[in-house]
Amino acid sequence: MKKYIISLDAGTTSIRAFLYDVEERRFVHRAQQEVASSFPHPGWVEQDADEIAFKAAYVLGDCLRAASGGRVEGIGITNQRETVVCFDAQTGEPVSPAIVWQCRRTSEFCSSIPKEDAARIKEKCGLLPDAYFSASKIKWILENVPEAKRLQRLGRLRAGTVDSFLIYRLTEGRSFATDPTNASRTMLYNIRTLDWDDDLLAYFGVTRDMLPAVLPCDALFGQAKLGQRELPVAGVLGDQQAALFGQACLKEGDVKLTYGTGLFMLFATGARPIFSRSGLLTTVGYAFRGKTYYALEGSVFHAGSGVQWLRDGLGFLENAAESERLSLSVADTGGVFFVPAFTGLGAPYWDSEARGLISGITRGTRKEHIVRAVLESIAYSARDLAACMEEDSGIPFTSVRCDGGASANNFLMQFQADVLGIPVDRPEERESTALGAALMCALSRGLIGEEDVVSSRTSERIFVPSLDRTYFDGLYAQYRAAVRRALG
Ligand code: ADP
Repeated sequence: MKKYIISLDAGTTSIRAFLYDVEERRFVHRAQQEVASSFPHPGWVEQDADEIAFKAAYVLGDCLRAASGGRVEGIGITNQRETVVCFDAQTGEPVSPAIVWQCRRTSEFCSSIPKEDAARIKEKCGLLPDAYFSASKIKWILENVPEAKRLQRLGRLRAGTVDSFLIYRLTEGRSFATDPTNASRTMLYNIRTLDWDDDLLAYFGVTRDMLPAVLPCDALFGQAKLGQRELPVAGVLGDQQAALFGQACLKEGDVKLTYGTGLFMLFATGARPIFSRSGLLTTVGYAFRGKTYYALEGSVFHAGSGVQWLRDGLGFLENAAESERLSLSVADTGGVFFVPAFTGLGAPYWDSEARGLISGITRGTRKEHIVRAVLESIAYSARDLAACMEEDSGIPFTSVRCDGGASANNFLMQFQADVLGIPVDRPEERESTALGAALMCALSRGLIGEEDVVSSRTSERIFVPSLDRTYFDGLYAQYRAAVRRALG
């Protein structure tokens, strides 16, 4: 009888479930439901947590039907991180809309956190105070939603990231748990002691009884009830960490780079957490087989979104894929550089006042040059992050494993290899996030071993860097000069 795992990927724009055939080592079915976001005030982003739970059950049911004739051995969960759901432990009903990671409503509070407090917070949780993380979002709900305060007094309020809320709902309230990768994005979890931190809890007004139990990624999180069926939930990771695991980045120095709307680089640092001097974050990479592993994380807000802007804002493209052909139709950008600072610049510049820039335009500049400059800027941003990580860790990069929508672009991947000076390795299965959760679940259920995680990843293509280092270093230096003009 066929053995399957269902991987549930609760993302920001959609919820998807993938049916993974354990023996064939591939996804054989998928189901998807869009998730709506609402923007009630400028900078605010909310979702309906009930909708997330209903749609999760729906796509799980779809995969379960597709598995008829075989046996589903478990459900792995991966999810948008940092997003907060507060709900009543007696009914499972949310007390307010979920506050999504992108929501900036608490940014004023976060920027008012004194420097010495920020340093102490970072020492404990590896994160820099920012509205992005869960803690200030929970604090906001406690201060602004009377029902939350009332339930907290009664000991009935629960607050968790999307994974823990889904586990609660799928197990019909029998289990409320999360994993260390999701916990390490809340700003309430001490990544050294691997426990909620009482000092951080007090700082944000959160009480321990509100929070989920933190179990290793390969634990049994509970029994999900789907119609008449009960299925073990085993294997939980936040989306970026799931991609790290799905890309089999299990050794110190392994790197994965996701090219989506933004750019996410995670660098596995093994059993030791490395605390960055250049504003990168320290996070739990994964925890399984009794051990916890760490990663350095760096992100750039805009990557693929620059390509969307070429298409929707400038009308230069019919679709994102066309950017490859246009870029290859010219030998270079003709001296044009693009800085994707639409909403400021993150690591290593940290300048929220910076704005986008196109430099080096001449009478000969064509749209092809600008399209190419936009793609090249993605590769330069990745080099910025790589430089920080090498500096912080003292470990040089030897190759990067790519995934995400824009990793389909062959020009971009080749240029990335050239700019980094190391090979860029693109896997056969680019749904690394879903794969990571499926593999963690399979591992937890004893269906595969650690060596199978490594052998499950096969390369589709390896982009080898050009030998002309001077040329590409020169281009990168010119990009840095353009960035200096975009600052402030
Ligand atoms: P997310 O998970 O952030 O929604 P995806 O991984 O689905 O993102 O990637 C979508 C992004 O990748 C979009 O911003 C799109 O512009 C970009 N993209 C998709 N295909 C290509 C391509 N062939 N070349 C360049 N960019 C692309």
